Amino acid sequence: MSEECTHDCSTCSANCDHRAPQHEPPHPKSHIKKVIGVVSGKGGVGKSMTSAMLAVSMRRLGYKAGVLDADITGPSIPRLFGVHGPATGDGESINPIPSRTGVQVMSINLLLDDPEAPVVWRGPVIAGAVKQFWQDVVWDVDFLFVDMPPGTGDVPLTVFQTLPVDGIIIVSSPQELVGMIVGKAVQMAKMMNVPILGLVENMSYAVCPDCGKHIQVFGDSHVDEIAAKYALPVLAKMPIDPELSKEADAGMIEMFAGDALDGAAAAVSQLLKK
Ligand code: ADP
Repeated sequence: MSEECTHDCSTCSANCDHRAPQHEPPHPKSHIKKVIGVVSGKGGVGKSMTSAMLAVSMRRLGYKAGVLDADITGPSIPRLFGVHGPATGDGESINPIPSRTGVQVMSINLLLDDPEAPVVWRGPVIAGAVKQFWQDVVWDVDFLFVDMPPGTGDVPLTVFQTLPVDGIIIVSSPQELVGMIVGKAVQMAKMMNVPILGLVENMSYAVCPDCGKHIQVFGDSHVDEIAAKYALPVLAKMPIDPELSKEADAGMIEMFAGDALDGAAAAVSQLLKK
């Protein structure tokens, strides 16, 4: 049950009256069809990479896509796309910065004078910045991917309360206590009354360059059993790919040709068909 609701939100419909008014409207000039939150238990598992690559995949499928970088203290979306600030605006609104292939990007790094400076804000200020990215930025997208702050604490919760998220994708790595992370994310999603689209296991394995064998660098994966426990689909198992990190470091994520996230992109595109 959420704080604001008098009933169990896990059993009520998507447009529950108690929940709907909490969501903030986007900018009046924005056109946003679906919002997908990308979450993880901790930083460094590839949440930003997954958000960015999903936006790229949706562009390749012919959709308009954007990434709202809500990971305010660890923003990495502009770096992946090789986009730079400052973002422009007219006092009433801010324009997202388009990538080479037209993915719309907004991140704190595109607004700060010094993108290298650490953001040492407290939770409410961070949540306020994300709210601005939602309310003051003029988006024109079929799919807006929100690269969430890691974890299931106060900040991601506030972000979920602000944005009308249509679906969540959970990113984990085999190193993590995946069971616990998925359990927490499932609870959070229930509280927010948002469906979980599925799990992406990143850094699942590495491929031997000589024989093509899959090497489970971090030991056996437990993602399938955890997914079965919570009746969630595994949308993708992404290998550790040196080519991917090379392209990412060079700001050329859009040039990466891998198809590991195709299953996740298909699940996202289904949202428009519902
Ligand atoms: P998070 O958003 O969860 O903090 P990132 O997406 O920033 O994590 O990824 C952390 C680092 O790992 C980045 O340097 C990224 O380039 C690298 N990385 C992520 N996924 C892969 C992968 N599948 N193969 C190679 N490098 C990866």
